[in-house]
Amino acid sequence: YDDRDGKIWMDGKLVDWRAANVHILTHGLHYASSVFEGERCYNGKIFESVKHSERLKNSGKLLDMEIPYSVEEIEKAKYDVLKANGWDDAYVRVVAWRGAGEDMGVASSRNPVRMAVAAWEWGAYYGDAKMKGAKLDISKWKRPSPETIPVHAKAAGLYMICTMSKHAAEAKGCSDSLFMDYRGYVAEATGANIFFVRDGEVHTPDADCFLNGITRQTVIRLLKERNVTVHERRIAPEELEGFEQCWLTGTAAEVTPVGQIGDYTFEVGQMARDISESYEKLVRS
Ligand code: PMP
Repeated sequence: YDDRDGKIWMDGKLVDWRAANVHILTHGLHYASSVFEGERCYNGKIFESVKHSERLKNSGKLLDMEIPYSVEEIEKAKYDVLKANGWDDAYVRVVAWRGAGEDMGVASSRNPVRMAVAAWEWGAYYGDAKMKGAKLDISKWKRPSPETIPVHAKAAGLYMICTMSKHAAEAKGCSDSLFMDYRGYVAEATGANIFFVRDGEVHTPDADCFLNGITRQTVIRLLKERNVTVHERRIAPEELEGFEQCWLTGTAAEVTPVGQIGDYTFEVGQMARDISESYEKLVRS
């Protein structure tokens, strides 16, 4: 993906795609001092764009890393990239990190904080799973405690176990992996939140030790507008057996039904399909 035409925004200006490089002594590369956003643009408009920019700024703050651009400047950078590449429908990636500088150790107060925005065309995150239901593995890793790491930051360091879990899942023919949290409760997938249905009511884990996704919040709102009862609560793994439907939510994943988690199976039911369609309508409206 590095060798192609196009433009990427870096530190205030558009540069050629192939020239969007960083130095090997970049602090973020060595110590994971990096935060990012994943957004989707539909028909020329980024869904919940300002919320994503605000979350990026907040992720930086949670890492004691002040991003040197305002929300307005981040907004402009994103649309400049979409325009420069001529895209109306694209995935947008904003990333901010501690750069290379005088500090070579863990501390980085003398190094600049840098930012880049790239965008590319990205179709369905789970391939044909939207129709059939995705198959999930269960990760051997746990989402960490809020006392271990700033769990509400969308920060690179939190994704190390996501990559490992996703590779293990793919090796078993699964699309993704479900994490339990540090207490043993159901948490989220490697890049998406999770919902369950039982007897017409919806259950989703409390977002108290992982990202409270913008898609998650949107889907809860859509459900409540339809007078569906939504329980945000701790969900024990033993409960998986009793749920009838399941889906994942995320900017890249959108709303993707789940057909299987480990040995448990779920139907791609009416509520999963309805909410997936409503979300699609909303983001394009
Ligand atoms: N959890 C993780 C670990 C994620 O990477 C994502 C995707 N950003 C989500 C949840 C869902 O967040 P959102 O709906 O804001 O994309």
